[in-house]
Amino acid sequence: MPTTPRLTTPLGRMPGVGPATESRLARLGLRSLGDLLFHLPLRYIDRTRITPMGSLRPGDEALLQGRIELCQIRFGRRRSLLCRLSDGTGSILLRFFHFNRTQQAMLEHGAILRCWGQVRAGPQALEMIHPEYRRIHDAERDELEQALTPVYPTTERLPQSVLRRLAAAALAAVEQEPEALGELVPERVIRGLALPSLRDAVMQMHLPPPGMDMEQLLAGRHPAQRRLAFDELLAHQISLRLLRREVRTFTAPGLVAADSEPMRHFFGRLPFKLTRAQRRALRDVQRDLAADRPMLRLVQGDVGSGKTVIAAAAAMQAIASGYQAALMAPTELLAEQHCGNLSQWFAATGIPVVMLTGRVGGRVRRQALQRLAGGELMLAVGTHALLQEGVSFGRLGLAIIDEQHRFGVHQRLAFLEKGSAPDFFPHQLVLTATPIPRTLAMTMFADLDVSVIDELPPGRKPVQTVAASSERRAEVVQAIRHAGAQGRQAYWVCPRIEETDDANVQAAEETARLLIEQLPAMRIGLVHGRMPARERDGVMQAFRGGGVQVLVATTVIEVGVDVPGATLMVIENAERLGLAQLHQLRGRIGRGKDASTCVLLYKPPLSALARERLETMRATADGFVIAEKDLELRGPGELLGARQTGLQRMRVADLARDARILPQVQRVADLMIERHPERLPELTRRWVIPEPALGVV
Ligand code: ADP
Ligand code: MG
Repeated sequence: MPTTPRLTTPLGRMPGVGPATESRLARLGLRSLGDLLFHLPLRYIDRTRITPMGSLRPGDEALLQGRIELCQIRFGRRRSLLCRLSDGTGSILLRFFHFNRTQQAMLEHGAILRCWGQVRAGPQALEMIHPEYRRIHDAERDELEQALTPVYPTTERLPQSVLRRLAAAALAAVEQEPEALGELVPERVIRGLALPSLRDAVMQMHLPPPGMDMEQLLAGRHPAQRRLAFDELLAHQISLRLLRREVRTFTAPGLVAADSEPMRHFFGRLPFKLTRAQRRALRDVQRDLAADRPMLRLVQGDVGSGKTVIAAAAAMQAIASGYQAALMAPTELLAEQHCGNLSQWFAATGIPVVMLTGRVGGRVRRQALQRLAGGELMLAVGTHALLQEGVSFGRLGLAIIDEQHRFGVHQRLAFLEKGSAPDFFPHQLVLTATPIPRTLAMTMFADLDVSVIDELPPGRKPVQTVAASSERRAEVVQAIRHAGAQGRQAYWVCPRIEETDDANVQAAEETARLLIEQLPAMRIGLVHGRMPARERDGVMQAFRGGGVQVLVATTVIEVGVDVPGATLMVIENAERLGLAQLHQLRGRIGRGKDASTCVLLYKPPLSALARERLETMRATADGFVIAEKDLELRGPGELLGARQTGLQRMRVADLARDARILPQVQRVADLMIERHPERLPELTRRWVIPEPALGVV
């Protein structure tokens, strides 16, 4: 007789899990039965009632039951099996592109079928493509699920049924090993939360009991979800704090040259004077760099506040102290721009800047790598390419990451590892324009010290923002013609709104074509992510130099791009964009001494939410105000995406939805680090995907 599985049982030993399934499970990080406990449902579907076909609408997800009236193979553009199902109130077509004989035989005329899927409008009638289905015998006609059905995060060719079965087995095993879901959070805290126990919460999430409040569960506000969100946020918070602690136990090279001749030279040659806020941030950075513990500092400043020069000064301090510095940017466009800026600021010092991006290859790359490893080249600027295997630094003293929201904690650490030698660890400087509210900042950057640049360089004129219906496009084009005649330059942004990249690029190309027709006297350029880098550089260069007057662009220009001469921006489909993105885009203008205008073109009718977003953009240019508003306007479930925050994807928690409990999470994290250090490894193991192998953690 087989023994009942334990939580430590490898999934490959579970009945029905062959090697292929085992490796698909491993791709989700699931290796033993116990791993299923914290692999929580993404959402739920309601199969507790059958929807009458007469009431279906395109887009509905529904459980249907009816009799097969017709089933035949169609030989159209694509061979398909069509099956008409009807229940007396209406009918629907089931369409299968992949099918075999057995399936075809099962879908015979007169059989009763229960199926689940999404309804869409087909060429003739409503249809479902490849629904889940099951033949129902007369006796089971009224037997329905009693509770919501969980839908798990999954990967290709790993059906929900497998995950559901394994999760149920894991929950059964907990009966024998209750400590697997034992409480780690101090009891007093749990009582204060007035939320269910961890064990009950996990059970309810996997197997919602009949009668559980469905509305709450579907909205992500059920007490079980709130309890798990608390634990998850707490685990992340603690893991970041511990990480910081670890890093701080290493020795860093003291970069003591803040007052040296090369530094004075560098500042003497800058074409502007630092603002007070810049000087303050720089002082923090300089002090940290001089110490022999690794700096972990975030410089946060709104778009255009002048963060790059702080990075440059820090790099100079490293180099003048005899160490290398490296700057990583999220896009090639931005890396190139930084390279240009730094080359200019460093020109007089004779320090060359080496570029390392995906497109630097062959002998140039090999040589650069060799000289970086040998410690001969002192300053490297690049993209993710800096993280690739084969890149190493002989004497890396400072790693700088620009626009941090595009990188995750993992990438930040991997970057540091590039320079870690047995005897020291590099300093880290992180720059971000993401104006996150304070509570969020404390969560996202729990491992970093923060300096804020809360002042823009002098002489900036505020950007005037107007919202205009797309019906007024002709007027907008006229305004660009007018501006062009006065020697002003403009961006015309075509944001990503289609499903596919190709479609987005096409939209931008179409816009460029139209503008060329409508503005024959102006030179129009186009940049998008799909064009060869060389060509894109050419266009950017021309725009920077004034040769191109209107730059039609996809959102590739969203972060960091700095062309002070551009004073006009048109953003199409502005109603589709979030506040954070609109703010980033608008930050491309208003950088010079001339007044700038931003036109938000929208397609009417506006939803109430979109109207409020556009109104906010008109009313304020303050990144922090916009961020607060952004948080307030996001509905539940509308994630502040992992990509956007640089945080690991959360399973239950939602930073926007759960922002209110963050201060408490902070306090409990303090308490647990102080009083219950022995519980921390288990807590983080439950929730945080392990960091990649790294000497630090
Ligand atoms: P961000 O903080 O968005 O990265 P940048 O570093 O790109 O901003 O700076 C925006 C522009 O302001 C650049 O053209 C830069 O040269 C300029 N700048 C930076 N600091 C000052 C200053 N103190 N005075 C005048 N211009 C400045
Ligand atoms: Mg920048």
